[in-house]
Formats: sequence, structure tokens, C-alpha cells
Amino acid sequence: MSRLSTVDWPGRLAATLFLQGCPWDCSYCHNPSLIPARTPGEIGWADVLAFLRRRRGLLDGVVFSGGEATRQAALAPAIADVRELGFAVGLHSAGPYPARLARVLPLVDWVGLDIKALPEDYPEVVRRGASGPRAWESLDLVLARGVDHEIRTTVYPGSAAAGGALEIARRVRARGARAFALQQARPQGTREGFVAAAAGWDAAAWDAECAAMAAEMEHLGFERFTYRAG
Ligand code: SF4
Repeated sequence: MSRLSTVDWPGRLAATLFLQGCPWDCSYCHNPSLIPARTPGEIGWADVLAFLRRRRGLLDGVVFSGGEATRQAALAPAIADVRELGFAVGLHSAGPYPARLARVLPLVDWVGLDIKALPEDYPEVVRRGASGPRAWESLDLVLARGVDHEIRTTVYPGSAAAGGALEIARRVRARGARAFALQQARPQGTREGFVAAAAGWDAAAWDAECAAMAAEMEHLGFERFTYRAG
């Protein structure tokens, strides 16, 4: 749990809950210890609720993150508990479970949804098959629901996401997304292989490439566009 974050839900002061389990295996994952669904929890739910009770009036909201938050069968009742305490609720998801996402969308105020690649490039990024159509279906569900959102694409040098980022942003905008973020992957907290690969990046050239992508994306007509440099 992060007790206070100003970045997990842009514009809000939030506590962030990191839920175990994710069906995917991105090389740049920042919480790889949470990928196994049976990772023992660090804090029991009763203790989380006790903490949140003490923070009423001090926090704007609570973000359910992961891992992949929709992996947890108890997500909907957990959101209901948090709402009952009076908090707004945000959700981070990469969209691997569209049906589960659809069930919790009516319960949340904001969604940060990762669109990691063009549909056909997903297996390269998340290292699992049958992934792209699910993520893009989740995007359509979020947009159809009309819930406040930020769609995010994370890039690193030579990745399929970097090659397709501008087209991803164009397609996301064409489907009706209002907010989009381009994010540079950071090696901190990732696994050894990614840290080692990052040590070989030409940081200045990569920064310039990303800044150029961001400059083009700014003109795609999003109400909010954010560039998060590394
Ligand atoms: S989808 Fe997110 S939690 Fe899952 S492996 Fe990728 S970065 Fe990690």
C-alpha cells in the first residue's frame, strides 16, 4: 500500500492499494513480485480499512492497482467497502479481463488503463498470447461507460510499443478517449534483465525520440495529454 500518492490518480491525493496477481509478464513490470496471484498479502483487509478510516477527510480517494487489480475476485466488494467510507475510487488496469472490468466500471470514478501496444504487438510486450484483443476491448468498455480516465502507453527503446506509439495514440483518440499519457519505462524496481538492458540505452537520443513523439501526440486533440519522461 502507498499511503499517500499525488501521481497514481492525477490531480488527486490518494492512497494506493497494490493487489496480487497478473496474467501477463511485461519486461518493464515495476511490481514483478505481485505477478503470482498467490503472493502473500502484506496487509490484511481489516487493517487497510482501519487505516482508511483514520484518513477520512485527508485523502481524496483510493486507487486499486496491482499487479492487475481485476485479477482479484473480491475487487467489487472491496471497492464497495471503500466507497462506504466516503472515498472516491480509482482503478489501474491493463485490461486483461474485459468481463471483470465491465462488472466494476459502474463502481469507480476514474480508470487509468494501459494500452501497451497495437493489438497484434501485444504478445511481444506482455509475453502472453490472446492479449491484444482483450486490452482493446477493455478500452472500448471504459470509453462506452463514459467514466473519467487516462489511457497510458509505456515505451522503451526498440520496443513494439515505441514503434507503434503514435498509431496507438491516434486509434485511442479516434475511439473517443479524452486523456492520454505517453510514459517512458523506468528501470527502477524492474527485474535484472530490464535493468541490464536499460544500462545500454542512449538516454539522450531516447529522450529526444520520446519528446518528438509527445510533440506529435499533443496535436491529436486529447483534452488532456501528459508526457512522463523517464
Ligand atoms: S500488466 Fe502490469 S502488473 Fe502485469 S506484468 Fe505487465 S506491468 Fe506488471
